[in-house]
Amino acid sequence: MSRTDYLALYEYTIDNQDQIAKVSTNWDSFETAAQDSGRFLSAGIIGLPVWDFIDGAETSLLYKVIFNRIRKHNSSIVIPYRCDSPTVRRTLELHLSARLNGSIDFYSYLLQEECRDTVDLFDPSFDRSNEHIRVCSICKRVALSDHHWVEVEAAIAHLGLFTTVKMPQITHGLCPECYAMAMAELDSSSPPPRVTTR
Ligand SMILES: [Zn+2]
Repeated sequence: MSRTDYLALYEYTIDNQDQIAKVSTNWDSFETAAQDSGRFLSAGIIGLPVWDFIDGAETSLLYKVIFNRIRKHNSSIVIPYRCDSPTVRRTLELHLSARLNGSIDFYSYLLQEECRDTVDLFDPSFDRSNEHIRVCSICKRVALSDHHWVEVEAAIAHLGLFTTVKMPQITHGLCPECYAMAMAELDSSSPPPRVTTR
């Protein structure tokens, strides 16, 4: 459940009521850098429900399933994910590990960071139109249809967003690949059902 080849590690813990119980001392540097906003600094988030920070109904449902399963089996799960800002692509791996008292430790390993041309779509300061586009909460790809999700640069080109005056609003969903990946991780992380013999 640990890695050695990472750039940084950010940790936090939720209690058995899903409230944020503690965050690592480097949390604020991550929050400031990763979101380019510093919206969720540690001083303001202790004691809040973790659900306040998970976007989208589908993603919340997935995490509810994950929390239930790892608490029940006192087990762990690894979810690779992206946490991009307008100017940086970040690849991370989230390790969730349940303890006997129902609390869950989150270890977020930053594996890779690369600069890119600024993506205005991810800049919260831009004016938004009434249009909506769906972004996968886990891989940050954009939905062109329910079954076709592409990297944000490809979506911008496809949707002609270079030339729009106002950016569409972002809603968060879950692409089929990430859903399948999470379910497969969950199945492999839980002990197999006990076989009873007569
Ligand atoms: Zn995805």
